[in-house]
Amino acid sequence: MLLSEVKMMSRFFSNKYTELKPYTPGEQPQDQKYVKLNTNESPFPPSPLAVEYAKREVEKLNLYSDPTCKPLCEALAKTYDLKPENVICTNGSDEVLDFVFKCYCDDDIPVAFPNISYGFYPVYAKANRVPFVEIPLKNDFTIDVNDYLGINKTIIIANPNAPTGIALELSDIENIVKSNPDNIVVIDEAYVAFGADSAVDLVKKYDNLIVIGTYSKAMSLAGARLGFAFADEKLISDLNTLRYSTNPYNVNRMTMFAGIGALQDAEYTKKNLETIIENREYTVKELEKLGFEVLPSKANFIFAQSSKIDGKKLYLELKKRGVLVRHFTKEQISNFVRITIGTKEQMDILLQKIKEVLS
Ligand code: PMP
Repeated sequence: MLLSEVKMMSRFFSNKYTELKPYTPGEQPQDQKYVKLNTNESPFPPSPLAVEYAKREVEKLNLYSDPTCKPLCEALAKTYDLKPENVICTNGSDEVLDFVFKCYCDDDIPVAFPNISYGFYPVYAKANRVPFVEIPLKNDFTIDVNDYLGINKTIIIANPNAPTGIALELSDIENIVKSNPDNIVVIDEAYVAFGADSAVDLVKKYDNLIVIGTYSKAMSLAGARLGFAFADEKLISDLNTLRYSTNPYNVNRMTMFAGIGALQDAEYTKKNLETIIENREYTVKELEKLGFEVLPSKANFIFAQSSKIDGKKLYLELKKRGVLVRHFTKEQISNFVRITIGTKEQMDILLQKIKEVLS
């Protein structure tokens, strides 16, 4: 059972949290085997090198991991042409997002993000008791950059955005960062490797930019829980203050070395990325033939709707047939389903089941 389905609360629970509605993660069903296209994981296993390095650490599990995460920070810095001082590693990128809300948002500095974006942002805001503003997307589900220029708030933007998959141009991101010099701008690049432009090079130029990344998608390590952020070294130091004040051993030793292995096996990641992008374009074309509207995605998922069937019904009918996709109840997007791009075989099963449902 998911925590959000648990209605119980003890009489000791702090008043601060009694109204808190926890984030609802995508289903991870254990009861039957689904074609699982609902949580944007990679359909491919981790790189063999990542697995080999992680295995070596198993025998050392009696020892804590390196709290500085030095070898991984160095490897990431080298890969992205930064200094290790510009890098922090965390337990999934979710953890560094939480640190951002703790470090850079309070009653005086509200946080702003798009009204349709990663569902965890408002939950972090509420859990950390910081005021937030949800800025509406345009009717075509794109972000209006003008809404973020000089707004005097901490800004968080997922690029590409989730669940739409739509990406911003790098020049637009730079304009947002430049026009808010006294506020932090966070670009959450969980899905950037699937076709959008990364803002990571701008970290050298702007001391108010934080770029967040994850191993969960392009690098097939969702279950290892590994995220990272790049920023000016003073910002990294702030984030580390929170890390050392909550959980200094946040990245376990198997994960840390799996992360190094995955970086070294760049060819493996590249090949998988190319396959997923190819499968995405194939799926979009096939869905369009079936009359679907599919938003232009630069991610490892697509957001699609059909005038022939309501989003919730499609989600339920596919689930009955053993295919899991994600449906969101928010009114503006309730007719859509979000479909993770898997292998060609998985996408063919999805398409076949959709045809079945529509007929
Ligand atoms: N940002 C976005 C936009 C996401 O969709 C997700 C996960 N689905 C995350 C961050 C967090 O990913 P993780 O904690 O696995 O790194």
